[in-house]
Amino acid sequence: HRKATEGPQTKSKNPLPAGLSGLPIVAIVGRPNVGKSTLFNRLARRRIAIVHDEPGVTRDRHYADTSAFGRRYSLVDTGGFDPEDTDPMRAGIAHHVKLAIEEADVIVFLTDATTSLTNADKAAIKLLRASKKPVFFAANKADSAKVDADAFELYREGVETVYPVSSLHGRGIGDLENAVVNAFPIEEDTEPFEDEGLTRVAIVGRPNAGKSSLLNRIVGEERMLVSPEPGTTRDAIDALVERSDRRYVFIDTAGIRRKGKVAKAESTVEAVSVLHAIRSIERSQVAVLLCDSSEGVAEQDAKILGLAEERARAMVIALNKSDLVGKKDMDGVEERAREKLAFAPYAPVVRISAKNGRGVNELFATIDRVKEAFTKRVSTGELNRFFASVLETRPPPTSGGKAPRLYYITQAETAPPTFVIITNAPDAVHFSYRRFVINQLRKSFGFEGVPVRVFYKAKR
Ligand code: GDP
Ligand code: GDP
Repeated sequence: HRKATEGPQTKSKNPLPAGLSGLPIVAIVGRPNVGKSTLFNRLARRRIAIVHDEPGVTRDRHYADTSAFGRRYSLVDTGGFDPEDTDPMRAGIAHHVKLAIEEADVIVFLTDATTSLTNADKAAIKLLRASKKPVFFAANKADSAKVDADAFELYREGVETVYPVSSLHGRGIGDLENAVVNAFPIEEDTEPFEDEGLTRVAIVGRPNAGKSSLLNRIVGEERMLVSPEPGTTRDAIDALVERSDRRYVFIDTAGIRRKGKVAKAESTVEAVSVLHAIRSIERSQVAVLLCDSSEGVAEQDAKILGLAEERARAMVIALNKSDLVGKKDMDGVEERAREKLAFAPYAPVVRISAKNGRGVNELFATIDRVKEAFTKRVSTGELNRFFASVLETRPPPTSGGKAPRLYYITQAETAPPTFVIITNAPDAVHFSYRRFVINQLRKSFGFEGVPVRVFYKAKR
């Protein structure tokens, strides 16, 4: 896991976990074959090695956290829009580009400098130039200065600055990266609804899973207190909900409702819809993956939950539309969900119906439990007793001719629970032993629905 090499983050003043305000999102948009994946891989180079070995998480990645010039951001390849669709007013291009504009902070529009602009390119450029978000126009496959001249066709479309780049060879990439990170929204210290007692919840899932229906049921139009996000150019609207003396913030309800109206489950917009999930999860403590039980849990669900797992958020799996499926069949739905989402066996499953309200109380109770686990701090005494018994039942095996000695354990962080074990030889602690320790921590202290992280550090 990528965090393993970075070590725990230093404690911040903010009661919310680091990164809750969300990394800026950069979307790559363009026709198929212009080189979007190649550019993606180049921009994500520093962290592309992050892969899930667990089954159920797809390997072809369309998003990655990366950084340039010291600024971190989430990069998304939105997939190509339909080049055959020459009528810009028809769904394809317009829909695709509009979603990217809505969800991203910065857009990189990629063309192929070695071919003429197509009608699809021109339609997209028109839409992008009218947007308020920063857009950078890059002409790819400019492998040498000779090709740069061809990139200038973009100027004829009213584009002010063209970035000729070669994603394959790296030419011009630095200039593009520099421009992109300088366009990020300025971060402010203020957090909306800053309050330790609050639970920040992101409802995520595929189009038509029932996200707006669920929100309407729990938020209700009239009781909704809205907060525009300060410090960003985003138009996220969060909803504050009070329920049995507890307070919850549901992240970006406006985005969910908006999506409820436009999403048509087209495959071309699937990758773009992941953008919404990323940005909501970034700002949440608890991610609720909403699945359509009548459709069954799919690859895309695994991808979305994988985003939460990767960001180490607390997780709940909610199987919605249970009213459409018989009780017996729900057992099968749950079983298959477990298989698809096998990389997070610790995430609790709740069966609900946004339509008739069944299971919604249990959903809230489950959110409360995983939030508690997420922010739990284990006392030093308990932790020491735990550690002694682990070492007694199963000391770390010798590895590479070295017998690692584990000296002590501390909880470095909550949200997510993060532990540090001091050892004489961090590299000699075998993967299977690391997994054993995590499982034992989970068994001893609960940690339902929460990724548990353990770092091994050398004694100084
Ligand atoms: P996508 O469909 O937009 O994701 O395009 P790909 O990234 O799959 O690239 C399409 C083709 O263009 C592949 O054969 C790439 O190797 C090639 N390609 C991508 N970038 C460059 C580049 O900068 N120069 C050259 N010469 N070829 C490139
Ligand atoms: P979203 O795209 O995830 O926001 O999904 P919506 O809330 O717009 O729901 C998609 C469709 O599923 C709508 O027709 C809803 O009425 C329907 N729906 C949502 N939840 C349920 C449910 O629990 N049971 C049934 N039968 N239908 C539901």
